[in-house]
Amino acid sequence: MSRIRVPIKAYILSLFPQAADESRRRSGSPRQGQQLRALANGLAVPSFWTRAEINQAFDAANQIWIREAEIEFSPVDISARVVSVPADERGMWIGFVNQLGPRSGGIGVGFVYDLPSHEGGWGGGRIAVVSGRKARSGLPGFAGSLLAHELGHVLIDDPNHELAHDDASNLMFGRRNPRVANAGLLTRDQVRAAQTRARTLGTVVEDADRAAPASRGAAPRPTAR
Ligand SMILES: [Zn+2]
Repeated sequence: MSRIRVPIKAYILSLFPQAADESRRRSGSPRQGQQLRALANGLAVPSFWTRAEINQAFDAANQIWIREAEIEFSPVDISARVVSVPADERGMWIGFVNQLGPRSGGIGVGFVYDLPSHEGGWGGGRIAVVSGRKARSGLPGFAGSLLAHELGHVLIDDPNHELAHDDASNLMFGRRNPRVANAGLLTRDQVRAAQTRARTLGTVVEDADRAAPASRGAAPRPTAR
């Protein structure tokens, strides 16, 4: 059986406030939705995610996605980044979409300290964002489960969780409790949709190539001369 491998650009993402007039000009609309208070007050919001935490979250998300759909998020390239975004939900989402989408293939994933409202994460288009505050509020492993869910929003075009059919054991169930372990299951329809989309974002890897994970750098390094 073949596996689909989707490369990730992960960012330890600190947020910097965007001036109100600039944010209106960019998003073309007044503030909408709840605001991230610190950012609205003109304060920067450092990320506080560590590389180890991000790698752990991807390990857990990969366990789910490989088991359910033979999709693996790899390699994961992590770097620190600062973006300037409006404080309101809609403006911030637009700011992320415009700044985090990778130029070539793959998915851009921002690891922020917090998001407006009680959202644990956002996903869509070619980006996902995960809130550390929410991830840490849950059971151990919740960060990975949250990440897997948001990546699901990238791979499956179903923003309102309709394909989860209100089944709490489904990965894409919409009202998850961070203190209740989730089975992270996917239906056949969800798997089919995700695989179709993942093929456009990554590459199909046959069995033989799988022994050496791409994240460990299978290719020999060029020698210095
Ligand atoms: Zn969701």
